[in-house]
Amino acid sequence: MPANHSDVLIIGAGVIGLACAHYLAMTGRHVRVIDRETVGAGASHGNCGLVFTSDLPPLCQPGVLRREFFRLLQRTSPLYIKPELNCGRLLWFLRFAGKCNPAHLERAIRGRAQILKYSRMLFLDLMAEHRLGCDWETRGVLLVHSDERALARYARINALLEPYGLEAGFLDSRALVKREPALRNDLCGGWYHPVDAHLRPDRLMSAWKRLLCERGVLFQEHCTLKGLVGSAVRIEAARTSRGRFTADHYILATGAWSPAIASRLKLRLPIEPAKGYSITMQRPRLCPAIPCYFAERGVVATPWSSGYRLGGTLEFSGLNTTVEAARIVQLESAARLYLREPLGSPVQEKWVGIRPMCSDDLPIIDFAPGHRNLLIATGHGMMGVSMATGTGKLAADLLTGHPTDIDPAPFRLTRF
Ligand SMILES: Cc1cc2nc3c(=O)[nH]c(=O)nc-3n(C[C@H](O)[C@H](O)[C@H](O)COP(=O)(O)OP(=O)(O)OC[C@H]3O[C@@H](n4cnc5c(N)ncnc54)[C@H](O)[C@@H]3O)c2cc1C
Repeated sequence: MPANHSDVLIIGAGVIGLACAHYLAMTGRHVRVIDRETVGAGASHGNCGLVFTSDLPPLCQPGVLRREFFRLLQRTSPLYIKPELNCGRLLWFLRFAGKCNPAHLERAIRGRAQILKYSRMLFLDLMAEHRLGCDWETRGVLLVHSDERALARYARINALLEPYGLEAGFLDSRALVKREPALRNDLCGGWYHPVDAHLRPDRLMSAWKRLLCERGVLFQEHCTLKGLVGSAVRIEAARTSRGRFTADHYILATGAWSPAIASRLKLRLPIEPAKGYSITMQRPRLCPAIPCYFAERGVVATPWSSGYRLGGTLEFSGLNTTVEAARIVQLESAARLYLREPLGSPVQEKWVGIRPMCSDDLPIIDFAPGHRNLLIATGHGMMGVSMATGTGKLAADLLTGHPTDIDPAPFRLTRF
């Protein structure tokens, strides 16, 4: 086989690209992964690391637009939309608004439940078999509320999770502090989801890369895709900053950068970049033992044996990685409302990542129409870690023609 040829060429070495590489390498395929930066340098580096299996409802749900509008006025929303005329973003929001209805809620929950439960099972296998050193723990997630109405409203969401066996247990204010003594004692209450897990994303990425290298996967870092060339029906080669690579199959797993690449193939992906921030610190003395999601502020506090992270915000301002100081302050202020000792010292990293948000809040895992040897695996939004293993396995099965364990229909491109 020529040195620049592989069975599969994966473009993008984020958590999705690595998961695809993992399950393809398991089938004996010769896999090459390229990235314009280094492995895990994108959104997969500094995210909150929740494997949030119970987070079934999509962002687009009935009532969300009205609620976020009021929260924006009260300056309590994690949402920020850059005020500029951007037709692509406007169209994306119109598509999103069109999905804020009960029928989509039900459909999306069904699709998300499939891939999230599947991913959880595969994560458990992965961790048991390979012991990837990434602070993996299965302690669940606490949804913490400072607002009575929001606490009560979650009961309706929780009822939707029951058919999937993913419902939370209710905790009143006293039970909440008993469960997690790092929380303030003036909160309204919370919901405990026992099924969820968490890990340290940067360590997951480096440990997974090591494992894949041992399995013969080739990594080409600082290698930017310039274009995919081919006929009307097949991709023949990838033009990159490091030369030309050929493969039998190609996977596009370039996260928030995917729409620009796909558009050169005349393929429109309804994905909008949404910036999120995190601060990584040393553990405070009174550190939470369980990851906490501060529901009214959209902020997560994730503890690891090796550190502690606050993360959140949803900023629609395009593909830029500028760290806005105000957003960092927003994370810190939110944590002060919920935690007795909200910050650790020293701060190790202030970080920005760009999520690939699909307008219906379901990922895309499907062949590109017109190019049967190009598979798209992106659009995971706020759930890329949680859905990674399921995405990788489904992509590998689709590509190798193996029967799939889950129904791929909710993730097909034809739904748009
Ligand atoms: C603050 C924050 C908190 C989050 N918390 C969680 C969480 O707790 N749980 C969860 O499940 N998800 C979480 N997420 C979401 C999660 O991080 C993303 O969904 C996931 O990382 C997306 O992975 P990806 O592989 O698709 O994209 P990325 O990790 O962004 O990878 C894409 C890769 O493609 C490369 N690339 C781009 N263009 C090119 C090109 N032309 N040529 C070659 N390479 C290219 C990039 O360099 C990048 O490495 C969070 C996100 C943020 C921002």
